[in-house]
Amino acid sequence: MRVIVFVRALFRQFGVGLRLLLSLLFPSLCLGCGAEGEQLCECCFSEVISGGVEKGFYADLLKVSTFVAAARYRAVARLCVLSAKHDGQADPQKWTEVVGQYLAERLWESIDCRGALYVVPAPSGLARRWSGRYVAAELSHEVAKSLVEIARQLGESCRVEVVCALQLSALRGSQAGRSAAQRNLRSGQISAFDGVLPHSARVVLIDDVVASGGTLKGCVNALRGAGAAVVAVAVACASTQAATVG
Ligand SMILES: [Zn+2]
Repeated sequence: MRVIVFVRALFRQFGVGLRLLLSLLFPSLCLGCGAEGEQLCECCFSEVISGGVEKGFYADLLKVSTFVAAARYRAVARLCVLSAKHDGQADPQKWTEVVGQYLAERLWESIDCRGALYVVPAPSGLARRWSGRYVAAELSHEVAKSLVEIARQLGESCRVEVVCALQLSALRGSQAGRSAAQRNLRSGQISAFDGVLPHSARVVLIDDVVASGGTLKGCVNALRGAGAAVVAVAVACASTQAATVG
């Protein structure tokens, strides 16, 4: 028994040492400003959860009662999203945690999270999944984890499941550089997988960025078509001048 404890302690020490060595050899870079030291420096930390989005605009557009965004799609918040999606060297874990926790807190305030809740990431094209990260799915996991943690701290019951319930037609590429009309066309290319969500499932839809809202509208329609109730939409960043304040 003692031997096992000793070996375990040795491995733990070895793990700590290894992490220290790795951090010395490859120091973390801030996802927002690139400064050495942390994955998300103190200055950038507050920027990625700065809010400032006119929620009513998207709530009306998507016909949902609750729309939550962590920040406007600009400056540091925008750089974080772009790095998280495209920079293979960057580690977006801290950013995902911070944004996911913020969104979960806002969701907990706005909707009834007790009982069963399904967190569904907006779908990503095959090309994106192949060449970059599926940020919406990573955010969905953080939101779900944080919701469960909030419930635990409050002694409430909350059963959250992340379900990749939506698919995008395989031949569609990135949204970047497409006109609003093309994006709206694409929104019709999103469909829900059969039978992955129970009927009348209460769904929170998650995406990294919303611009014209075309993709999210397609997602909401597909989910409603599959019999789900979309109770909220949450994104890391929201863009469009019509939808911003301050
Ligand atoms: Zn920074």
